[in-house]
Amino acid sequence: MAKQGVQADPGRGAAGPLDFGLTIAALEFAARQHRDQRRKGADHAPYINHPIALLHLLWTVGGVRDSITLAAALLHDTVEDTPTTATDLVNRFGVEVAAVVAEVTDNKNFPKLKRKQIQIERAANLSDRAKLVKLADKICNIEDVTHAPPTTWPVERRRQYLDWAKAVVDALGPVNGPLGDRFERAYHTGLSLLDREPPSPTATQKLYVAAPLFSAAERAFNAKVASMLRDRGYQVFLPQDEAATLKDRGAIFRCCLSGLKESAAIVAILDGADADSGTCWECGYGYGAGIPVVAVRTDFRLSGDAGGFNAMLAGGASSVVVGTDRLEARLLGAIATALNTEATLPPPLRDGR
Ligand code: ZN
Repeated sequence: MAKQGVQADPGRGAAGPLDFGLTIAALEFAARQHRDQRRKGADHAPYINHPIALLHLLWTVGGVRDSITLAAALLHDTVEDTPTTATDLVNRFGVEVAAVVAEVTDNKNFPKLKRKQIQIERAANLSDRAKLVKLADKICNIEDVTHAPPTTWPVERRRQYLDWAKAVVDALGPVNGPLGDRFERAYHTGLSLLDREPPSPTATQKLYVAAPLFSAAERAFNAKVASMLRDRGYQVFLPQDEAATLKDRGAIFRCCLSGLKESAAIVAILDGADADSGTCWECGYGYGAGIPVVAVRTDFRLSGDAGGFNAMLAGGASSVVVGTDRLEARLLGAIATALNTEATLPPPLRDGR
């Protein structure tokens, strides 16, 4: 055991005799304060498992033996997420523990996005103890988001969380070698697992397939595109299916218009000697409504007024995919870009090169 008053490795917190009583008291108090809470993850673990996980990491991976840091880790969410006040912590555990908890507590008066930004900005100026707690917290959280994510979090949100946690940890600077390594491993494992998941079929990710649908060949191709997109996890509005039973032209119009309004992006098939007039209307609607349009042309004939797309169609599209070579991968990439998410390529392309 290190001698009292002697500074240990700063990455392990200050040296001093381990105050086991303080750790147990903090655990008991945190368990009581979080007693009615569960983690957001699919396993709905008791909330206290989270502070215990921090303690476990700090002790076993980080080699941290500093009682103040360990107690603060156990208490780190009490002020933010329970009725506990900073004064409660001062009275029970002393000013040092309370100060570390205060450093890692978000100010809930700010909106969530702002709080996230503040965490990045303040990271570098945290005390060594607060940095240890913050690092352990981020490791535990990204491991949870990777292995037992909140059931309502789509892939994109989980990826954003990982990237934000990485930004915070990078801003902390060097804290503790083994914990830093553990974070890097957890982060990269999380990213590679998320990369294998298709985009989430959330309401904001409905795609509208705008296309000519007059010949059997056209309808077959549209259905193939829709099926490929559904395989990747997207919801798809395919007018030839959605409006199939409608006879009234006004009803067809309203049905397709409501499909457009619900869509996060439009995939417009612009094949033919010139683009289909209905598809052009849908492209224009998308542009005006701020819905990104991914234009696709597999037809090798020249088309439009300049031997390619009509200038208005090309100008209004967020991206243009021409030709059939690697069509699926390029289309998915263009959609992901339009939706501001990362591309999820089909496995053969990812593994094969
Ligand atoms: Zn936490």
